[in-house]
Amino acid sequence: MSENRIYMASPTMHGDEQRFVKEAFETNWIAPLGPNVNGFEKELAEYIKTGSAAALSSGTAAIHLALILLGVGEGDIVFCSDLTFSATVNPVTYVGAKQIFIDSERDSFNMSPKALKKAFEVYGAPKAVIVANLYGTPAKLDVIRNICDEYHTPLIEDAAESLGAVYEGRQTGTFGDIGVFSFNGNKIITTSGGGMLVSDNEEYVNRARFLSTQARENERFYQHKEIGYNYRMSNILAGVGRGQLLYLDEHIVLKKKIYDRYQEAFADIEAIEMNPVPANCKANYWLSCMTIKKDSNVTPLDIILELEKHNIESRHIWKPMHMQPVFADFPFVMEDGVMNRANVADNVIDMSVSRDVFSRGLCLPSDIKNTDEDMEKIIGIIRKCFR
Ligand SMILES: *Cc1c(COP(=O)(O)O)cnc(C)c1O
Repeated sequence: MSENRIYMASPTMHGDEQRFVKEAFETNWIAPLGPNVNGFEKELAEYIKTGSAAALSSGTAAIHLALILLGVGEGDIVFCSDLTFSATVNPVTYVGAKQIFIDSERDSFNMSPKALKKAFEVYGAPKAVIVANLYGTPAKLDVIRNICDEYHTPLIEDAAESLGAVYEGRQTGTFGDIGVFSFNGNKIITTSGGGMLVSDNEEYVNRARFLSTQARENERFYQHKEIGYNYRMSNILAGVGRGQLLYLDEHIVLKKKIYDRYQEAFADIEAIEMNPVPANCKANYWLSCMTIKKDSNVTPLDIILELEKHNIESRHIWKPMHMQPVFADFPFVMEDGVMNRANVADNVIDMSVSRDVFSRGLCLPSDIKNTDEDMEKIIGIIRKCFR
């Protein structure tokens, strides 16, 4: 990490991680599996109050396995959040299925239940739905769950960014048939790289463990009846995760303080709005984001470049999947209409919520190690852009 740079989100270690890793070294549990993997799975499942969990090499691997567990394959359709990181939707392509992207709602920037309903009406039931909880704010998970149930469609909840966030009293990651977390370096807790697949259905979790360790049958020789993957988390990294999990609550408190600080500091600037957090949920505030009102002459890029001059990291909001060149031919469903490649060619104006949020939004430095002076500096630079 470069000195003096102010980050959006970087790893914050506490020392307890080393205790678990040291134990692994001392007992020579270096190779995959071992007490840290079992411990991390159990402790995370207890924290979010779910049945069981499988520790994996990444969140992306967890989404890939979730699709396989739900039988998604060649030619199937999957409805996916549009405004998200590409890792939410790439695994759909890995299994030979096709994405249909669902626009966001204004309330949370997450998948619009109305647009989702519309997609069911237009296309019928897909093989699965993947909903992401952006920047640590839960989607309308109960409403989305109910729509999926109505059509007997399984739900994958991509909670990679929302570990510890709560929707109507219940932890995110537990609303889907399968939930997914990530412990990538920038996430609210990290194992440097890693992921978790969770479910109340123990069969799913057991099968995820099986598939993630090369689908080895229980025989004395190497016997394979299925194609497997090398997706298991190592015992060393699970040790880091166990140490980090002890500090998840503390991280959330600090993240919220950052969000509150920005909100207060920009309260008098009419053109700035912070990312919305609906009243019926507790976000984990992984990243604080702001949008700039339409009539302002300041753009997100102006602010990003100004911060960069001072060695401060910030980014645009995720660029929506329906705007990505790689998905140019894929359908996209909004609350009041469907857009596909043909429409784009016909110069239909894209009035989607996700495009609007992307064009006006940016993610602010949200690193919990940032000092009061750092926050002061960031806020000062941004305020100056609006003078
Ligand atoms: C980080 C992230 C992932 C992928 O997790 P990895 O562990 O990096 O593979 C998936 N979805 C979302 C929304 C993410 O932010």
